[in-house]
Parts: sequence; structure tokens; C-alpha cells
Amino acid sequence: MATLELSETTPEAADDGVWLACIDCGESFAPFDAVRYTCDECDGLLEARYEHYPTFADFGTGGDHPARPALDESTSLGVWRYAAALPFEEGVSLPEGDTPLYEVPRLEGDLGVRNLRIKHEGMNPTGSFKDRGMTVGVRVARELGVDRLACASTGNTSAALAAYGGRAGLETLVLLPSGKVAAGKVAQAALHGARILEVDANFDSCLDIVQNLAARGEAYLLNSLNPFRLEGQKTIGFEILERFYAETGRFPDRIVLPVGNAGNTAALYKAFRELVESGALAPGDVPKLTGVQAEGAAPMVEAVENDADEVRRWEAVETIATAIRIGNPVNAPKALPGIRETGGTAVAVSDDEITDAQRALAAEGVGVEPASAASVAGLRRLREDGVVDAGEDVVCLTTGHLLKDPDAAALAGRDPEPVANDTDAVLAHLDGRSGSLAARLRRRLP
Ligand SMILES: *Cc1c(COP(=O)(O)O)cnc(C)c1O
Ligand SMILES: [Zn+2]
Repeated sequence: MATLELSETTPEAADDGVWLACIDCGESFAPFDAVRYTCDECDGLLEARYEHYPTFADFGTGGDHPARPALDESTSLGVWRYAAALPFEEGVSLPEGDTPLYEVPRLEGDLGVRNLRIKHEGMNPTGSFKDRGMTVGVRVARELGVDRLACASTGNTSAALAAYGGRAGLETLVLLPSGKVAAGKVAQAALHGARILEVDANFDSCLDIVQNLAARGEAYLLNSLNPFRLEGQKTIGFEILERFYAETGRFPDRIVLPVGNAGNTAALYKAFRELVESGALAPGDVPKLTGVQAEGAAPMVEAVENDADEVRRWEAVETIATAIRIGNPVNAPKALPGIRETGGTAVAVSDDEITDAQRALAAEGVGVEPASAASVAGLRRLREDGVVDAGEDVVCLTTGHLLKDPDAAALAGRDPEPVANDTDAVLAHLDGRSGSLAARLRRRLP
């Protein structure tokens, strides 16, 4: 099991205080001298490491106390406000990040936790958190001088890659599982100018192919296997801690999030480890990372429940939550320690529970796609099972916007009601009377 210890001396390979380290064997590599996704020695996952880890004061949020976040409302540069924790000062930006942390009083009362907030990542430029990783990933691609970017995607990564790659003037190529990507996402990738290759296979097979293309030097891979994507996604963790603290004077006890490739789980864990390393966050204040998967695609949950070190690849996966329809979570070696060492857990929910949670969020004005609602469905399940207690402060991450998957939204929502082209008929319909009867009644009114 990877230890994921951050503190170490700066290796020779470091470039401007940044390097890549293998989470399995510890070997370090220069970050930008060659394209590399995994360890040359043992094929383990790589992680960006820094000479200095940030405190809250480094984020320029008006706070001078390194361990006390203080938000100044005028500061809003999104992801790049956290440059102190990133490999570059600025990147290809639209801009992304700085997403809302919503109160949801009815849902909070219904679920019976002390404080419930929804961190809505659907409010990013292309409608998902993938933008945070892509702004950094595309900046690194520029540094490396590559000219073609590629990803396999359940949809949102392809939308973000197409938009950010297009903005950077780079060619973009996306591989999608045919017929399993929500309409909004394909539309985005298409209009932002990606070449879309539809593969008659699931996401995991698409990723196998893209990895092979990347290994042959055909394209620069921007899936979350790319360690720099996760650097951008760390900023979700920084924003949650700052904002929650600003509103409540505490850090949240728990963060509940949907899990696909487990990149976000790994990224949040890394954000917390870095703040602990700098002394900005006490180890006891690290939120419990709690992952949620759909029952039809739950290899991480299986590994957590069995206390296994390795995740078993599920060949057949199915769920309405297509963004997390993934059977082989590539970031599991980074994410499993995150779940375990923070005292979190993982839970699977049914598609019906996901749809119910999507409706409950929508009723409070928060429009999310099905995968996102999995976080709230998971919290409900864990409350019912007594795993999460009533005194907890919880943040649920909602990862993508409602409009990403209009078909799922239409199915979960109310049906349109056909009415006649006539005001009286409309009124009658609203009154629950038959159009013709109401029209007759109204004609008799003085
Ligand atoms: C990518 C994605 C996920 C899965 O995130 P991982 O970091 O791969 O676990 C969940 N929800 C949505 C909407 C996504 O786009
Ligand atoms: Zn290694």
C-alpha cells in the first residue's frame, strides 16, 4: 500500500521546486523534460511534489494567519488563485473554479445533519469540475510542446478537453463509449472542435486505447491518470475548506463525493495532505473522504468493504449515472489511502436513489446531472445506516450540471402537460377541470 508521505528532500530532478514522484517506489522524475504518465521503474502512479506546501495565507484571501482561511470577497481568480499550490503561476483559463457552496436547508433538515452544503462543480465553464484539471493539464501540455491532446471520457472530460485545447489552439481527440455519453457532453465536444471517436466498448476500454496511443507518442493524455489534472482539482478542497470555515468557523467533518476513476478523491486527499504538511490544517481537522458509486459500477466500494489493497476491475458496468459508469478506477491506489486515512468510507447507491436525490437537489434550485446526485444519495444511505451522525457538518460535491444530461433530467422531472390554444382551457386545466366543461362554465360568468 502506498504511504503517500509528502515530506522529503528536494531531489535533483526538481524543476523550480516541482517534481514528480512515484507513489509506489518513491523514484523522482523531472516534471517537464519528457512526457511521462507513470513511473519508469515500476509503472506506479506519479504525483506532483513541491519544495514548499501552501498555507491559507499563501492563497491571498485576506488572511494573514497561515492556518486560518479568511475570504476577501474581492478575490476571485478561481483555480489560479491557488498558484502557490500549482506548478505554474497561470494557465489556459476560461476562468474556472470559485464555484458556489450552496445551503440547502430543506435537504439538510430532511437528512438530519448539523450543516449540509453543496459544492456545485456544475457551475464551472463547461459545466463540470474537469475544467479545474484541464486548465492546469493544458498549461503543462504547452510546456511540454505537444500538439495533440487526447482523452477517453464518459463525457465531461471530453467537453473540458475540447474547450481548453481549443482555447490553447491545440488539436483534440476524444474516445467515447458509443451510446453511453449524455447528449450535452457530446454536443460540447463536437462544437468545441474535438475529433470524436466513438468506440463500441465501455469507458475502461476507451482508456486502454488512449493509453496505448499516448505510449506510442500519438497524443498527450489528459485523463486523470495525468498527475497534473489532479493538481488543478485539488483546488476544490481548498475552496471548500476556506468557504466552509468563513461561514461556520469550522472545517467540515466529511466530504461526500461521487467516484468514477477516483481522481477527485485522490485530489482532495492531496489538498489536505499538503495543508497538513505546511501546518495550515491540523491532522484532526481533515474531513472524512466518503466516496459514492452506483451499485452497477462499484469496484471501489467493493475494495473498501473487503479492506482490499487492490481494486478488482469490473468488466460489465451499468448505471443511469453515466459519468461514473467506470469499472476500473485508475486512481484507486491514490484514493483508497485517502478514504482510509481520513476515516471515511465508500457506499453504493441504486439508480432510483440517485434519481430521488437529483429531484431533491433540483427542488432547492440546484440542478445536477445524475452522477452528481450520487453524493447526496450516498449521504442519505449513510445517515439511514447510522454511519454518519446527526452532529456532523457535511459537504456533498455535485460534479456536473443538470443540462449535461437533458434526457435524464426530463425523465426524472415532471411531464409536460398538453393544453389547448385557449386561455380558458389553460385555466380549466390548472383548476383540474376538463377544458370543455371549464370553458362552458366561464362563458356563463357575467
Ligand atoms: C468525471 C466525473 C465524475 C468522476 O470523477 P472521478 O474523479 O473520476 O472519480 C463524477 N461526476 C461527474 C459529473 C464527472 O464528470
Ligand atoms: Zn515506481
